Amino acid sequence: MTSAVHGSRSASDLRVGELRPSQLLHTYGVGAVADLPNLSVMVLGLDEWELEQAAIVPEERLLAAVRSKLGPQVQNLRMPPYTPEDPNDFTGAWSRIGVPVAVFPGWLRCTDNRCNRLAPADSGLFHLLPNSVAPDQTRYVHSCRDSGRRRPTAVPARFVSACPAGHVDDFPWMYFVHRGAPHGADHTLKLVERGTTGEAANIFVECSCDDVKARSMAEAIGLRSEMVLPACRGRHPHLGTFELCTEQTKTMALGATNGWFAMQLRVFSLPHAENPVDSAVAEHWSGLQVLAQLPRESARLVLPTQVMWPQLERFGADEVLDAIVRHRDGDQAGAVEEEDALDIAGPEWLAFTGPPQSHPDFSVSSEPVPSSHRGWLDQVRLVKRLREVSALYGFSRLDAPEWGSATRGGPVVEENRAPLSSSAPSWVPCAETRGEGIFLRFNEQRVAAWEQDPDVVRRAGTLKAAHQKWCAQRRTSADWPGIRYVLLHTFAHVLIREFALECGYGASGIGERIYARSGDDPMAGILLYTAAPDSEGTLGGLVTLGSQRRLGSLIDQALEAARLCGSDPLCADHNPLAHGRLHGAACHACLFAAETSCERGNHFLDRELLVETFSGRPGGFFTT
Ligand SMILES: [Zn+2]
Ligand SMILES: [Zn+2]
Ligand SMILES: [Zn+2]
Ligand SMILES: [Zn+2]
Ligand SMILES: [Zn+2]
Repeated sequence: MTSAVHGSRSASDLRVGELRPSQLLHTYGVGAVADLPNLSVMVLGLDEWELEQAAIVPEERLLAAVRSKLGPQVQNLRMPPYTPEDPNDFTGAWSRIGVPVAVFPGWLRCTDNRCNRLAPADSGLFHLLPNSVAPDQTRYVHSCRDSGRRRPTAVPARFVSACPAGHVDDFPWMYFVHRGAPHGADHTLKLVERGTTGEAANIFVECSCDDVKARSMAEAIGLRSEMVLPACRGRHPHLGTFELCTEQTKTMALGATNGWFAMQLRVFSLPHAENPVDSAVAEHWSGLQVLAQLPRESARLVLPTQVMWPQLERFGADEVLDAIVRHRDGDQAGAVEEEDALDIAGPEWLAFTGPPQSHPDFSVSSEPVPSSHRGWLDQVRLVKRLREVSALYGFSRLDAPEWGSATRGGPVVEENRAPLSSSAPSWVPCAETRGEGIFLRFNEQRVAAWEQDPDVVRRAGTLKAAHQKWCAQRRTSADWPGIRYVLLHTFAHVLIREFALECGYGASGIGERIYARSGDDPMAGILLYTAAPDSEGTLGGLVTLGSQRRLGSLIDQALEAARLCGSDPLCADHNPLAHGRLHGAACHACLFAAETSCERGNHFLDRELLVETFSGRPGGFFTT
């Protein structure tokens, strides 16, 4: 990433660190604060990004879904500009290509404990020391003592303020220490840490004037912060804008986990059913599009010299050139019907359950169902190659976006969504991961019959009521995903745990996708998959667990493990209504998965739906 650190955004760019493309989507996207060793910067809005190095990623279903959220002006999805660092070439192209960032928060504190000066970065008190050898060691210094590189470092002030509408601002230091009273311009501040615990109660803001006493940051934290902080100024530092806002701000520690939540859409790349050469060309479009501008004879000469040719050769040059013309002439997202854009799961379900196929990004084969599970398991699919593309379409602060929204298109109103750019964006950043997986399809008749079981209906009522109560407490309105979802989701979690035990790698490396839908086009299935960011490699070995020889006993062991939890009887007797949580018998000891694994933040889980637990209540899918 490169930074224009002195406020002027087009000023000479300075490289301050490196972030990988997937980080730019999942951890440090637009509007997020990246904590560098001595500097804290915010990733700027899309208006500031340079597009030359941002390759277009052709993924029509995802583009259509993004359009359904942000509007038809979105033209494409792009990889963030990125060139890996070359340690042997300090001034190479990589050092100038990057994602733009600006210093945030804008207040710094001198780390010399005799000084502790607190002032804006652009107050003239601090100087920036770039480091071309180690860009992420770039730092501000205060000239209060020593000289040159020995001057003490000035670090970002540790607190900012934020509101639920997605605004974030510098903490109002002057206002806070003066208790909201007006003050002149000649006051200077210190941020002093007394003691060594680093607790807010031991951090004091002091003013040079005699009018006010030092004030502890503890007074700005938690419920009290609403009383001591001014109204929100509607600031979006990533855009450099202010807008009207009626929300109350809260104090937030720099680097707090609720400081930034990605709003994403994710799809699996599916081959074009009609013609494999079209999907191959679409896959390599960023490299092939220059050929689309050439006369056919020239293109025919150039094509075999391209890096992607080995992947295309089997189709023959003429077939590929025809497909290039088709792709050029066809409107990318136009190929996807509007209705499909709202249904990300549907086409994926058809691809996983349909005929086996093998493509560079999507390879599915059939595996016999283990004989002991034929009563409920209809299909086992080994997914040897899988590519997931995710697009960032906004972000929120303080509150996470609704669970499951990443796999659902459509113009859902998301009131807390902060924009990626100052006007409607013509593109959004995306990232891709490749992996492998196992797909299991439940028997629809069995699932439908189970849903009608009076014990299940009763349990569904309890869980749904708990869900509604939970929503009411948070003043949100999220859809109840249905009892079928909770069944499949819980099953996915017990299997993820079993798989992780079996193949030795962390459960956090396995992701899930739940396909649960009742009604006319029902779905009941799960996909467990590995997805390794920024690499072709996978953790390996997951598909082998789906073989007929191994899967049966793994499922048996997973279900056996689901009967008991280390926290029983508490866990099994857990009353969803009393706790207002979105799950029944579920806890860290038995069902919860890593944040990166679960598509619903560990909500909508209940062992009781699978097997008979300590509670002894009937209704388990695998015991009825
Ligand atoms: Zn100082
Ligand atoms: Zn003062
Ligand atoms: Zn606000
Ligand atoms: Zn438990
Ligand atoms: Zn989950």
